[in-house]
Amino acid sequence: MIKVNIPKGQAKERRYIINVLLSEFLGIDYEISESNKSEDITFQLENNKKIIFKDYFFSKLSTKNYSVDLIPQKIEHLESNKYCSIKNIPIVYGKNMIEDDNPNTIICHVDIFSSAFFMLTRWEESVLKNKDIHARVLAKDHLSVKFNFFHRPIVNEYLELLWGLLKAQQINQEKKERDYQLYLTHDVDYPLKWVHLGRSIKTLLADLLKRRDLSLFYKNFKCYLSSKLNVKNDPYNNFKQLIDAANSAGVKSYFFFLNGGQSQYDSRHSMNTSFMKSLYDLIHSNNHYIGIHPSYMTQDNYDLLKKEVVGLKKLTPSFHPFGRQHFLRFKVPTTWQNWHDCQLSWSSTMGFSDRIGFRSGVCYAHSTFNIQTRKMLSVKERPLIAMDVSMGVWQNFNNLDTVLNEYSQLVTTVKKYKGDFVFLWHNSYQDQNVCTDSTAVFKRFLNVSL
Ligand SMILES: [Zn+2]
Repeated sequence: MIKVNIPKGQAKERRYIINVLLSEFLGIDYEISESNKSEDITFQLENNKKIIFKDYFFSKLSTKNYSVDLIPQKIEHLESNKYCSIKNIPIVYGKNMIEDDNPNTIICHVDIFSSAFFMLTRWEESVLKNKDIHARVLAKDHLSVKFNFFHRPIVNEYLELLWGLLKAQQINQEKKERDYQLYLTHDVDYPLKWVHLGRSIKTLLADLLKRRDLSLFYKNFKCYLSSKLNVKNDPYNNFKQLIDAANSAGVKSYFFFLNGGQSQYDSRHSMNTSFMKSLYDLIHSNNHYIGIHPSYMTQDNYDLLKKEVVGLKKLTPSFHPFGRQHFLRFKVPTTWQNWHDCQLSWSSTMGFSDRIGFRSGVCYAHSTFNIQTRKMLSVKERPLIAMDVSMGVWQNFNNLDTVLNEYSQLVTTVKKYKGDFVFLWHNSYQDQNVCTDSTAVFKRFLNVSL
């Protein structure tokens, strides 16, 4: 068993990130002790060989608390080294230096633990002030976007380095085996396009008065009538096709249902209609999953979140306690705390709304941490890697090969680390003017993801 010694300062934060990297990700045993001898983290292996991880962050946190000036202004990269094969790993905290003159003690200046803590807790997002109209931190302000490493799961890269260092010191444990896993997820914002009369009239009037497009009006009116004659004709009612595609590929689908909300961004459809009941049955009978898609205002509203979770549980016995925030609206750390308090098991909200990549710098599900209460939470985050909206599938339909190419590069990266590739495809995000068979396009992404 590895003996890990940490300073007493910020011990809760260090214990959390050490637990995630060593126990959850690598699956290795360790025991931890605290002392005031050093500001660094020391690993002592069974053979008495040591690795010292120099601290470049936690000791500053104790006096300053989380603030913008703790976010690095520049990023160094780790040069080629004998411990891992990944080139130029971005170093959030620390220096491009590994001292190994003494074979019994390696001193690593890449502050793996502070850097991983930065990425996973997302404390950065709690101190950045610029927000978009949905109160989300602008992607361009994220450190990973500023320094162009958002397409790299840098925490997985740190893990490779950490494992390489442990192997160099002849660790006598094996790391845990993992398998690549595709998570096919669908946020059901609108189960049907023509779900209720008021919204249908609004759409049709907007074609005439706002868009002034007579042919679009006729097209939509025809679509409205045929959908009312037979709900199978509703363009958003493509659940059977999505399920058939997942079944053929042998993967599970996760349908996250919006169940409430009164904002203009919530669809306000009834969840208790015969159509919805048959939809729950369809998903359940095919052994796929139903989860929650908490509405627009839930990001910092525990009571509303609880009401929506309890409500969906009552509607369908096949409810599972996982899902994703609507519009990816998320407040660090309140939203995770509320999910934890509602006894939800995992969220998959940590994805970019306007690009694909690694918002948390990782492709593994991990325990979360409340930076205010300084407690580890039982709710896990399984980061969202790519979604149809953030790739602009329909806007870029003429360049779909380019979009698919970028997407498949991310799949390859996640496969390399045997991680979870979380993909989001909306049943209701489509452009019938560009393509009348959205399922065929979905299948192209699905095939690349397998
Ligand atoms: Zn949504």
